[in-house]
Formats: sequence, C-alpha cells, structure tokens
Amino acid sequence: MESHGSIEGMDDLRHRLDYLTLVTEALWSFLLDHGHTEAELLDRINEIDLSDGRLDHRHVHLVACANCGAAVTTDHCQFCGTHIHDVFAPV
Ligand SMILES: [Zn+2]
Repeated sequence: MESHGSIEGMDDLRHRLDYLTLVTEALWSFLLDHGHTEAELLDRINEIDLSDGRLDHRHVHLVACANCGAAVTTDHCQFCGTHIHDVFAPV
C-alpha cells in the first residue's frame, strides 16, 4: 500500500512530465516552422543520447565522487555517502 506522500510524489512527477511534453511539442513546432525534418530531430536525439557513451534513450551526466572515485548520477554518492556538490569533479 502506497503512502500518501508517494501518491503526491507521483502526481507531481506526472504534472512535470506533462509540462515537459508540452514544452517539447512547442519547441518541435518552432523547428517544423523553420523547415526542419523529423529525420533531423532523430539524428540529433541519437547524437545527444550517444554523448554519454550509451545509446539507451537517456542522457546521463556522470560525475566522479572525489572521495571514492565512483561515477554517480545523483548529488549523493550511493557508494560512500559523500555529497557530490561538496566535492564536484567532472568525469
Ligand atoms: Zn563516493
């Protein structure tokens, strides 16, 4: 059984996803108005997707934990507990 907080969290995520979808549709409409094609969009999506080393429909910004060296995606190292904002270093 989900807690009340989890339901509110899901509602907030759904609202944010809906808004991001709306923003994306608006941006895409500008590109269509300027003659860009869906093929160009897909090429750019793949280019950005691959920029983190993986073609996995995600673009993940990895940072190195300065304490243990692990590559992490959050502001909190899941391996040693260090707050990454305190010791930020690009991978
Ligand atoms: Zn660490």
